[in-house]
Amino acid sequence: MKRFDILTIFPDAFSYLSQSILFNAQKKGLVKINIHNIRDYSKGKRKKVDDKPYGGGAGMVLKVEPIQNAVKKIKLKNKKSRVILLSAKGKIYNQKKAKSFLKYDQIILICGRYEGVDERVAKYIADEELSIGEYVLSGGELPAMVVVDSVSRLVPGVINKESLKEESFSSGNNLEYPQYTKPETLEIEGKIRKVPKVLLSGNHKEIKKWREKHSKKLTKF
Ligand code: SAM
Repeated sequence: MKRFDILTIFPDAFSYLSQSILFNAQKKGLVKINIHNIRDYSKGKRKKVDDKPYGGGAGMVLKVEPIQNAVKKIKLKNKKSRVILLSAKGKIYNQKKAKSFLKYDQIILICGRYEGVDERVAKYIADEELSIGEYVLSGGELPAMVVVDSVSRLVPGVINKESLKEESFSSGNNLEYPQYTKPETLEIEGKIRKVPKVLLSGNHKEIKKWREKHSKKLTKF
């Protein structure tokens, strides 16, 4: 069982995690996903989770103490846990990194918001800072879901082995070949568009050759 614990100030943002493959993975007991409201770990009447940045500047910064309290409470004893802070300035996440997370029993994901998170979380509480790409999002909720989804599908039993075998990035930066389904022939914007003949041939050797030839290579902007 792989356990994910997500720390957020927007716990209602995660309905994606209870759909389709992830729904089944949780139902089968292969994956457990807990969402925690950081506010619940804030002491004091007002349950404050953020404050103004020292040194001035725009926006608010998430405070350390509620996150520190949450991680302390949630972290499993005698299990392999990894604490991750989602951050635009983190190291860029990829499939290799997703595979490497399989060795942990528990992954704790801290979602930032506003101007970010007090740097002491990155320095003294998180094991690492991860970015899901070279752009800025409004919060760490989408990145946390990206990590949960990409790691969960690699957990044995979540999806069938055959599907994983030829998937994009399954070996290095190789991407998957083009896929087609019915109908064989279709009119798109006045032109007849057909499925490549070889895929209808039943000749597995030729299909494999065609797929290898048409597998894309990773391109970047
Ligand atoms: N002021 C920060 C900066 O310039 O790097 C951006 C803060 S962003 C608006 C708020 C939160 O969204 C961040 O603390 C982080 O948790 C999350 N976030 C934004 N972009 C991200 C990315 N590319 N990868 C991971 N998390 C991201």
